[in-house]
Amino acid sequence: MMIKGYNCYYCGGSTAPDEINYEACWGEQRILIQDAPVLRCERCHEIFLAPDVLDIIKKIAQEEPKIGEPELIIRMPVRSYQVYYT
Ligand SMILES: [Zn+2]
Repeated sequence: MMIKGYNCYYCGGSTAPDEINYEACWGEQRILIQDAPVLRCERCHEIFLAPDVLDIIKKIAQEEPKIGEPELIIRMPVRSYQVYYT
C-alpha cells in the first residue's frame, strides 16, 4: 500500500501519486516494468517507491524468465558516450 501524506525526504515538499517505467537490472539481464506506482515530489520531482512496490518489482524481475511471454519486447539504439565525447 502506498504511503499517503509522505513528505519528500530531500526537500520536504509534498508528494503525489504517479507512475513510472522502472528498469530493473541484474547481471546482463534487464526488464522494463511499466506503470509502477510511485510518489513524486511536487517541488523537486524526486520519486519514492514504497517497500511493497519494490518487493513486487523484484518478484517480477526474478520470475521473468519463467512467467511466459512479456506484454512487449522493445529494441533500443545503443550509442557509446565516448564517440560523442571526443
Ligand atoms: Zn522534494
